[in-house]
Amino acid sequence: MSAIKLGIVGCGIAVKELHYPALMELQDLFKIEGVTSRTEESADACAKLFKTRSYAYDNLLDRVDAVDIAVPTHLNYEMIKKALDARVNVICEKPIAENVDTGKKIVELANSSEAMLYIAENYRHSAVYAKAKEIMKRIGKPEFVLYSRFQHMEKDVKYAATEWRKNPKHIGGFLSDGGVHDIAALRMVMGNIIRVKAFVSRARDYLGSCDTMSASLLFADGALGTYSVSYGLAGENIFCISGTEGFMKIRSDRRAIEVITEKEGKELGVEEESIEEENTYKKEFIDFYEVVNGKENSLGSPAEALEDLRVIEEAIKSSEL
Ligand code: NAP
Repeated sequence: MSAIKLGIVGCGIAVKELHYPALMELQDLFKIEGVTSRTEESADACAKLFKTRSYAYDNLLDRVDAVDIAVPTHLNYEMIKKALDARVNVICEKPIAENVDTGKKIVELANSSEAMLYIAENYRHSAVYAKAKEIMKRIGKPEFVLYSRFQHMEKDVKYAATEWRKNPKHIGGFLSDGGVHDIAALRMVMGNIIRVKAFVSRARDYLGSCDTMSASLLFADGALGTYSVSYGLAGENIFCISGTEGFMKIRSDRRAIEVITEKEGKELGVEEESIEEENTYKKEFIDFYEVVNGKENSLGSPAEALEDLRVIEEAIKSSEL
């Protein structure tokens, strides 16, 4: 299989800090043909980094087999549409869209296109969640999950400082930007979430929107869960699943899972499964390459990415009722 001619769309934090290092290790799979961005300045700096040239988007599309889109989320629809219309394959950063309505339109575009759309959700490539799913049978029937994420951001943290996050057009600001990762992880391990009810609040005025949420989840198999998240407050990250025969704790650095089995209230054993260090961005580009070359698109599925966003949007909207 030959290298994919890839164009880079957007030259911000995701491209420079996450995609560039991964793509540099995958030069046999991807040949970077050019970049485009909003400002000439940024495009030129990025072209220099990738040792290529910058182009207007239409011209870039004429030169490539695929584009890597990492722009403010509310621009995904127009960027994806242009590429698919030009029969250019797309890998686009999560969340799929700024809201579910636009996300649905993107899924329709993808379903009717001859080119392929892959939504890059790096948590779907994280070995720890696949391992946790495997461990599930050791803890019996899952009954309850506790998931908390605290990512306290000061005003000058790079993500908080981007203009499009300060004035978000994407629902719930950081709650959807970061929240889709958490829902992807929860769904990978626990299956689909069929109902959600939440309250939201705003702890920091500089974060652009609500930044804190407490949600109750109902999973398709009847298990319950709580999802607590804050981008404005500090706290402890927890992912703990309780089943009828024990429980497991996923370490917050995602490098180990502790499994505690029990019977009739008595502890039977404690084991720790460790996870090798990995670059999930590199894994998603490898998967994208394989999907372009005919593999089924399960980890980059637009419909799955839409479902992650649907849960977050439903949670935020439930708090308004
Ligand atoms: P960012 O640093 O603000 O970068 C956004 C880039 O988009 C900038 O280079 C900007 O151009 C460019 N842009 C803006 N408007 C444009 C337009 N009309 N045409 C072309 N380019 C345009 O944002 P970011 O943090 O990289 O986020 C980008 C995407 O990556 C988002 O979807 C975000 O959710 C995702 N992301 C994912 C992860 C992850 O862990 N998976 C982490 C971070 C971000 P200029 O530089 O020219 O202004």
